Amino acid sequence: MAFDKAFIESVRDRVSIVDVISRYVPLTRKGKENWGCCPFHTEKTASFSVNEEKNFYHCFGCGAHGDVITFLMQTQHLTFIEAIEKLCQDAGIPIPAATAEQRRRDKESHELYEVLKMAADFYKEQLYTEEGKVGLDYLKSRQLSDEMIANFHLCYAPAGNKLIQHLKAKGVPLKVILDAGLARMSERTHTPYDYFRERVLFPITDSRGRIIAFGGRIMVKDDNLPKYLNSPESLVFSKGRNLYGLAQARAEAIEK
Ligand code: ZN
Repeated sequence: MAFDKAFIESVRDRVSIVDVISRYVPLTRKGKENWGCCPFHTEKTASFSVNEEKNFYHCFGCGAHGDVITFLMQTQHLTFIEAIEKLCQDAGIPIPAATAEQRRRDKESHELYEVLKMAADFYKEQLYTEEGKVGLDYLKSRQLSDEMIANFHLCYAPAGNKLIQHLKAKGVPLKVILDAGLARMSERTHTPYDYFRERVLFPITDSRGRIIAFGGRIMVKDDNLPKYLNSPESLVFSKGRNLYGLAQARAEAIEK
């Protein structure tokens, strides 16, 4: 779960950075600073200082610098959230229960991951149909081997509203399909339509390997349509945050 900023600040204020660090690094107090041998580089004389008042550590040898949270992350190999949880546990600070708002967002995100996975499975099958052959042929013409196509989970979005039909038949509510960026409402007819049509697609994944969006290259000649199209932003997909190297490599493979 995520913690809000005010809670993170309160944890930083309530724990003593000197107490925490001295559990891992022997410190000697000299004036306002506490000194020890730096855990981030090898040294025999202490150039690592911890300042309780300013709430940070600083190494004059290697330049390592940070607060009690980064110290735990780096020396104990914890994530940001794990570091905060550890600080709370050690200091007896109660961890706030997830708020109703957080629980709602977690539930909604989970629904989006599920439907995006279902969409990816559907699109993957389409690549090997008569209609999807244009996509498969295109990928082959890009010198992509069967293995690469499988590894990158490259797939094909057919014409029409086949994805919406497929997902609705599986019981997925239209709202979830729209929220996942897989369909849009037509302003003219007020009916939903598949967001990706007649495109070779590559799934975009997050750092945990979950599908959060798709990118696609069009397979038909139509100057009114964009040649390349990415999923719109959603609860689980933010363009600034989520376009990883791997997704870009995939994109490059098909967007030429
Ligand atoms: Zn150092």
